[in-house]
Amino acid sequence: MVETFNSKVLEKKQLTDTVICITLDAPKYFTFIPGQFVQLTITNPESGNDKNYAYSILNNPKEKGRIDLCIKLIPDGIASRVFKNMHLGDIFSVRGPFGRMRFNERAHEHYFLCTGTGIAPLYSIITEYIDRSDHSFKLFFGAKTKDDLLFYDEFSALAETHDNFEYIPILSREEWDKTGHIQDHLASHIGTDLAEKTFYICGRQEFVSETVALLQKKGVANECIVKESYG
Ligand SMILES: Cc1cc2nc3c(=O)[nH]c(=O)nc-3n(C[C@H](O)[C@H](O)[C@H](O)COP(=O)(O)OP(=O)(O)OC[C@H]3O[C@@H](n4cnc5c(N)ncnc54)[C@H](O)[C@@H]3O)c2cc1C
Repeated sequence: MVETFNSKVLEKKQLTDTVICITLDAPKYFTFIPGQFVQLTITNPESGNDKNYAYSILNNPKEKGRIDLCIKLIPDGIASRVFKNMHLGDIFSVRGPFGRMRFNERAHEHYFLCTGTGIAPLYSIITEYIDRSDHSFKLFFGAKTKDDLLFYDEFSALAETHDNFEYIPILSREEWDKTGHIQDHLASHIGTDLAEKTFYICGRQEFVSETVALLQKKGVANECIVKESYG
């Protein structure tokens, strides 16, 4: 059920040069399905006009009373400017949850493909379902440099402790085990038996549409693709 409530900023962490993670408090009754997003009402500091901005929920619904968001600070972006100048205790009006990105229980092989803050809904899904040993999970994360690999330590640790999880970070601007873009490495991993597979894609519009086109060319059916574009 969609709820509207005021939410206080409890924590603000700098994850990389340009990405922050904020924790908002939430009423105990607030719940969501991993993969969904909320909208925050943000006031343009210059015009005073309000606008709703969507942010995927990073954390797990079992963690009641909080919403974690992972936000890219874009130079000159209006919402980004508000988040940059935000202080602990500031209040946002929050509405949600929304969105149809969610785990496909019927598939057994799950491919997660993302860049940047597109990791947020996938993080929520992976951490919720990873203990289901009858499912396998592969995370392809594309970034420019190692410093841009959000949650690198967490995903490396998950791969150590879970045989059903493979973490495949790919860098485009630094020497690394796998370089280039996600699309360069995908074909060799997906094979030809596509029946049991679901692909979850999240990030900038161009990344999502290029990746969808590549998967369609390989014969992946539309109902096996779950996607969210950040614009
Ligand atoms: C369903 C949905 C979920 C979203 N979830 C998140 C999220 O979890 N984290 C997040 O940071 N953003 C997310 N976004 C994007 C977010 O709503 C804003 O568009 C973003 O914060 C930019 O707002 P702005 O006013 O600062 O910049 P704007 O002036 O609106 O944008 C400037 C430019 O930045 C590009 N841009 C927008 N978002 C991103 C991004 N994440 N990474 C790189 N470039 C971007 C836009 O295409 C535009 O060209 C989501 C969008 C949608 C539709």
